[in-house]
Amino acid sequence: MSVLFASSEIYPYAKSGGLADVADALPEALKKSINISRVMPLYSFMDVKKFKFYTSYSVKIATIVYDIEVFSLKKNEITSYFIKAPHLSTTEMMYGSKESDYENNDLRFALFSMAIVKLTQELDIKVLHLNDWHTALAALYVKEFALNIRVIFTIHNLAYQGLFDEHTLCKIGLNKKYFHLDALEFYNKVNFLKAGIAYSDVVTTVSPTYAKEILTREFGCGLDGFLNYHKEKLYGILNGINVTRFNASKDKMIVHNYDRNSLEKKHDNKIDFIQHSTLKDPRKPLFVMVARLVQQKGISLILDSFEELVSQNINLFILGEGDKTISQKFTMLALQHSNFEYFDGYDEALSHKTYAAADFVLIPSIFEPCGLTQLIAMEYGAIPIVHAVGGLKDSVYEDGTLCGEGIVYENQSREEFLFAIQRALKLKKNGKKLKKKRVHNMGCDFSFTPSALEYLKLYKSEL
Ligand code: ADP
Repeated sequence: MSVLFASSEIYPYAKSGGLADVADALPEALKKSINISRVMPLYSFMDVKKFKFYTSYSVKIATIVYDIEVFSLKKNEITSYFIKAPHLSTTEMMYGSKESDYENNDLRFALFSMAIVKLTQELDIKVLHLNDWHTALAALYVKEFALNIRVIFTIHNLAYQGLFDEHTLCKIGLNKKYFHLDALEFYNKVNFLKAGIAYSDVVTTVSPTYAKEILTREFGCGLDGFLNYHKEKLYGILNGINVTRFNASKDKMIVHNYDRNSLEKKHDNKIDFIQHSTLKDPRKPLFVMVARLVQQKGISLILDSFEELVSQNINLFILGEGDKTISQKFTMLALQHSNFEYFDGYDEALSHKTYAAADFVLIPSIFEPCGLTQLIAMEYGAIPIVHAVGGLKDSVYEDGTLCGEGIVYENQSREEFLFAIQRALKLKKNGKKLKKKRVHNMGCDFSFTPSALEYLKLYKSEL
């Protein structure tokens, strides 16, 4: 069976969040069982010299013919294809500037989707695995061209739907028949994500709890009715991580490698981390947060609880990039509090150092489709403190019997969050209990292997 995994980002070529990690880890976990390749855009910031020219073809969108070049790279036995196309490959960033998304994202990702479908034909692909709205139109094109390809569509975050004005229909040459409620219409706008939901054979999302949540008004982002209509083909499969890459005993991005039997070296990482920061005293519990700075990640709760949080005998470090107003607030707060440091930016190596140094990782998300930071935290022996939603609920437990031990609070309130912090501080004082939890988590399997089996069944149409 030949499978093509299509994503707008794949680590290490381009990454803005968890999607890139999944696009790295899931095909890795599947490569022994099936013939799987990947496809993503060739963005302008990527060095084309690192890739080999593979083929070229043209695609027609509206009345215009666009020349596409495809490059490839085989690494770890998986071939990745890179689509170089007008508009798609000429922007400075992936999706837009910090202020706004690119105005022609509709055309850019329609082109990407069309190029994916053409590539499936060139490669004689039988199963096409699409991810998020950037690739969703490919499901529609497969049906439109009546191709004999099984299409799986994964929603990594329902909050991002690819919404455009009605004139997008004309711009990307889409027949008006698709502008109705059962297809792409969404409150008079064109919704790309709906194409993935409507025209794929199977729709998955990234945790069992999120698969249930998105059927409700609270979490459905306006698509709960539409998803309920398609729920017979909806599955929730928990994400995993690439445990070769996120591996405390081999990670080249951290200073001292360690495993569950040499946790004292984790402390050495903390000493090193504190020395290289504005923080002082590595004996203090180190709380960290590594996240895109968007409201989804529970930033309001952090800000509401901030004074009480930093008044404890702790160090707090936040690594995050995103919303300008949020980063300005954190920058101000860091100037006012010597036990708080904020790093404004996206820095992969620093994130690894942060997990290796941390005692506790804060994940107070309002909603969280799966979340990878709790899995990475546990892999590095840090204890996650999570709001019981989505994938956080499916992967972190406070009762100490299941794999994935952390601190879990039920309601997104300041009181419950701060009480969770108190439980963390109590745990930190009980060295034996804390070590037991760290050791337990570091022996758990957070890889994609178990979930890859579920995807395999869906590819083979066995579920
Ligand atoms: P999301 O996909 O919503 O951003 P996930 O928890 O699924 O959230 O995945 C986030 C991924 O991005 C993790 O690998 C995390 O370590 C990484 N990450 C988030 N923010 C940063 C940052 N500022 N610098 C480095 N890595 C980051």
